[in-house]
Amino acid sequence: MVHINENYLKLKAGYLFPEIARRVTAFTETNPTAQVIKLGIGDVTEPLPPAIVAAMHEAVDEMANAPTFHGYGPEQGYAFLRNPIAEHDYQNRGVNVSADEIFVSDGSKCDTGNILDILGTDNRIAITDPVYPVYVDTNVMAGHTGDADENGRYAGLVYLPVTEENGFVPELPDEPVDIIYLCYPNNPTGTVATKETLQKWVDYARANGSLIMFDAAYEAFISDDSIPRSIYEIEGAREVAIEFRSFSKNVGFTGVRCAFTVVPKDLKVKASCETDVSLHQLWNRRQSTKFNGASFIVQKGAAAAYSPDGQQQKKQLIDFYMTNARLLKEGLEAVGITVYGGENAPYVWLRTPNNLSSWDFFDLLLNKGHLVGTPGSGFGGAGEGYFRLSAFNSRENVEAAIERFKAAID
Ligand SMILES: *Cc1c(COP(=O)(O)O)cnc(C)c1O
Repeated sequence: MVHINENYLKLKAGYLFPEIARRVTAFTETNPTAQVIKLGIGDVTEPLPPAIVAAMHEAVDEMANAPTFHGYGPEQGYAFLRNPIAEHDYQNRGVNVSADEIFVSDGSKCDTGNILDILGTDNRIAITDPVYPVYVDTNVMAGHTGDADENGRYAGLVYLPVTEENGFVPELPDEPVDIIYLCYPNNPTGTVATKETLQKWVDYARANGSLIMFDAAYEAFISDDSIPRSIYEIEGAREVAIEFRSFSKNVGFTGVRCAFTVVPKDLKVKASCETDVSLHQLWNRRQSTKFNGASFIVQKGAAAAYSPDGQQQKKQLIDFYMTNARLLKEGLEAVGITVYGGENAPYVWLRTPNNLSSWDFFDLLLNKGHLVGTPGSGFGGAGEGYFRLSAFNSRENVEAAIERFKAAID
């Protein structure tokens, strides 16, 4: 008889985005003429930058002719992409990451899940609360947790609350942890981590033999030069951190699919036989066996993001979304809403007015404003009483959303 992975049965059925979709569908069925504006799910809306489109067209043409055709590429990614990543994203900023420490993939969601393949099953895992749900669910699937309680908190995970009270800076755990997930700029709160905050975590990891999983999917949205864009800007991080980056949000690749993971060669972990094992080697082995590389066409597109035109167009795209974020933040603050984020990240994280629960506020905005956001409690218990709005939309929709928001809470 076949056995299933019963860890999947521990996953909570009522996952956030399906529940949002259910409520929106119910609303539009009773209000068929309402034009609902969605600032909920974190998906981009603007088309690909022209330099990237041109590079992908060229790549398709190469594939159409035998002399320039490409079959399987290197599992780790083509040098034409790994080299500019190392140069532009790291070395030009004085950060020590070499091209052969970069593993190109088809997404950070997969990478953050797949990385668990090379890690043991007995690690104590810390996550912030609220959090990007992928970190939690992939650990549940891998059997690294017990069951969820009535608040959706899994036994065995260490939850680090990030709220107004601690200025959205997670405190060091009061019990030892082996793996720590950090995401900065943060989804969902839109907040950033200072150099001091990240140094505190790197020092903790070095002292405790822990591993930091650093998700930098939104680094390109940082405009404040004092805020680190990479964990490797922090002294000692090469010994304790893996960094995940993605082309999804910064050049609109959510539907194209390209990302990369940095596993420094200095990252060593002691195996039970007492020998030091290189996580770089393990990840290389894992990728070479279970992954056959990202598409040639897609990697050509991603590489074009580093061309002079590509860089300029990427900046324009980010400026566009960050103007949306600023308009949202200012519009909401003008009517007395307390707003976090929105300055170095494409999300604003707001306190619900009148102490409404996150879901009650969701229903109010939907019913009175025909506006969809994301209830903070969907990202974790400490997100209760908060609400996320995304800056990923047209200017027209963002401006209309601000007016509707104001009318709905009036
Ligand atoms: C969008 C997002 C990613 C990117 O995922 P892809 O699979 O590369 O599209 C990674 N982490 C966080 C926190 C995100 O919000």
